[in-house]
Amino acid sequence: MKKFLSVFLTICLLCVISTMLVSCIHICEFSGNHVWDEGVITKKATQDADGVKTFTCTECKQTKTEAVEFTGYTLDEWNAIINSYMFENFQYTEVSKTSGNGITISSETNYKFTKNYAYVKVTIGNQSSSRPISNITDINTARRELINSIIEITHYGSFEYDPETKTYKAKSPIEISSLNTSTSKITLKFSEDKLTEIFYGVAFKQNGVTIVSESTITLSDYGTVVLP
Ligand SMILES: [Zn+2]
Repeated sequence: MKKFLSVFLTICLLCVISTMLVSCIHICEFSGNHVWDEGVITKKATQDADGVKTFTCTECKQTKTEAVEFTGYTLDEWNAIINSYMFENFQYTEVSKTSGNGITISSETNYKFTKNYAYVKVTIGNQSSSRPISNITDINTARRELINSIIEITHYGSFEYDPETKTYKAKSPIEISSLNTSTSKITLKFSEDKLTEIFYGVAFKQNGVTIVSESTITLSDYGTVVLP
C-alpha cells in the first residue's frame, strides 16, 4: 500500500511536471507570486487623463496595469508642441480686461490664419472692427509676430507643472516685450498635447497711470507642420 502510494505520487508529480512543460503552466500561476518586469508605458499620461503602465510576468507572461499620473512634458515634447511650424493654420483669441485711471475696458482680439489667408477682428468695449488680410507678406508678418509673442512667454524652463490645477505656472517673472514689463502671473493649459490657453496678468505704468490687465489667450485649430 505504501509502495503503491509512493509510486502513485511519483507518477502524479511527473504528470504535473510534464503538464507544466507541455502546456507551459508556471508555478506563479498557482501561487500568485509573479515575477513582474520593470513595466512599459502602454498609454502616455496627458494633462487630460492618467496613462497606463503595463507589467509582464517574466515567467508566465501574465500582465497587470497601473495608472500613471501626468507629471509634465519633457523639453522635447514641449518644443514639439510649441513650435512655430505648428502654427500655420490656427486661431488666436485674446480676451482682456484692462483697468487704469478708474476705467475698465474689455477687449477681444481674434485672429484666424490659414496658409494664404488671415482674418482679424478687434473688439474694444462695444466697438468692433474686422478685416481680412490677403496679402501674403502681411499674413506672414502678422503670423510671425503672433507666434513670436507666444513663444516669448512660453519657454520650457520658465514653468513648472502643478498637478493640483493641471496647469503650468511661471516659476519667476517672464518678460513681455510688447508691454515692456514682466510678470510671473502666467499660467498655461495644455489639452491633447496642445497648448490651448495662456493666461497672463500684468501691472505697469504708462504716462504715470498704473495699468492693470488680465488676458486669456485661447489657441485652437493648429498643428499643421510646415517645413522651414
Ligand atoms: Zn507569472
